[in-house]
Amino acid sequence: MAPSTDGRTPAERLLEILGPVNRFHDRAELGDFGMPARAMTEHLVEPVARGTVTSRLGPLEKVHAFWFAGMSCDGCSVSVTGATTPSVESLLLGAHPGLPRVVLHHPVINVESGPNYLRAHEEAVQGVLDAPYVIILEGSITDETIAMQTGGYWVGQGEEPWGPDGAHRTVTTDEWIARLAPGAAASIAIGTCATWGGIPSAEGNPTGAMSLMDFLGKDYRSALGVPVVNIPGCAPVGDNFTETVAAVLYFLQGIGPLPEFDELGRPAWLFGDTVHRHCVRGAYYEEGDFAAEFGDKECLVEIGCWGPVVNCNITERGAINHHGGCMNAGGACIGCTMPGFPDKFTPFYTQSPGSALSSAATRIMGGVIKPLRNITNAHLNREVRWDREGSVPSGWSREKSEPGFVAETIHRFYDRFRLAADTSRNPAQPWGKRPEQVSGGSRMATAADDRVHPRQSDRTDGSDGHRPDEN
Ligand code: SF4
Ligand code: SF4
Repeated sequence: MAPSTDGRTPAERLLEILGPVNRFHDRAELGDFGMPARAMTEHLVEPVARGTVTSRLGPLEKVHAFWFAGMSCDGCSVSVTGATTPSVESLLLGAHPGLPRVVLHHPVINVESGPNYLRAHEEAVQGVLDAPYVIILEGSITDETIAMQTGGYWVGQGEEPWGPDGAHRTVTTDEWIARLAPGAAASIAIGTCATWGGIPSAEGNPTGAMSLMDFLGKDYRSALGVPVVNIPGCAPVGDNFTETVAAVLYFLQGIGPLPEFDELGRPAWLFGDTVHRHCVRGAYYEEGDFAAEFGDKECLVEIGCWGPVVNCNITERGAINHHGGCMNAGGACIGCTMPGFPDKFTPFYTQSPGSALSSAATRIMGGVIKPLRNITNAHLNREVRWDREGSVPSGWSREKSEPGFVAETIHRFYDRFRLAADTSRNPAQPWGKRPEQVSGGSRMATAADDRVHPRQSDRTDGSDGHRPDEN
């Protein structure tokens, strides 16, 4: 869509074309569509909800949440219904101390349909809804003014008597958003399509697809003064959404601060770090070990991972119920949470130009560090008793040779370095070292040495073999 040149936002231009509305469905109209449409979801849930006038800690007993789908695949809905901390069910039931219960109006989840489903929407448009509301958008906003030129629409949700002389016409998602956003307590975009335009706004798209922020403009503030809240991801981590909603509700309830958001409206505590910083494959990257193909266990940067420069928390949060997530499941990061997705990350699954330099650097550093770590790791995999006795009595392993000259020498230096900082140590011989290690000599243990550090099996005096000043 061409940027506005007259200072109006796309939402303002759309409403100017459509004009105000003042006709609504007759209350007697229910709408069936062959579904159990006569039941109101709110009426079904309310009797079992925990958030009541007696359990609430703030002024709000409930908050309506209107969920809209723009150009979406419904993946955000799938993610959110799988969230666990907190879960959608617990929010609907008001099961969290202090939180108002959420009355969800979701076109897929709710049981009512037709005019019955749209009743609360209409009341919100008229300003007579019985509680505050938030609006939630998954999928990108389309430019309906393009579709209007040929008499059609891109994305609709329900019909209202808003046509000429009260004729029913399809109401687009854009129109609902444009009418409801000014009165909403908060406007929340979920998923990369809604937050940044996403795949529907990629190069060549014919719909003028854009984000909620682009649609409402930078001066948009909710009824409580909050700009658009953005929770990106394709699909997003469901917990990122429910946790943010809970944080916003605590704020609305007056018992929590406004959660911290970054300059793009993302929850700062969720999107402040890169994928790479919490990746399960990060140590492979650091040691210069890179996967050659998918299925390998090492770092995926050379086969197309953008993790080092992408803000996303899936590596610490998991995809669902703290499990899964891209690198955990073997996938490289293609930057799906980012405003530049997808155009700035294509072609997918090829090494990004910037990572060639950093991976070459870690390969050099890892070539030095990794062998040294292997030596220390082998040393730490031995009991101090085995060091003294020169053998590992394991029935599981093949015969383990003693450390070679190089490993032994490196480790001796390493140990001296380590112990140099131990200011609490008495000047006695340290337990667990063979005498030649302690003295710095190269000879094998002798009978005289054993008198200083008797082998446990040789002791006859019942002592632990330490001299008094070794404690
Ligand atoms: S797989 Fe990606 S995110 Fe993980 S360590 Fe490698 S580059 Fe970083
Ligand atoms: S790791 Fe990358 S591809 Fe995976 S969810 Fe996060 S941003 Fe998207």
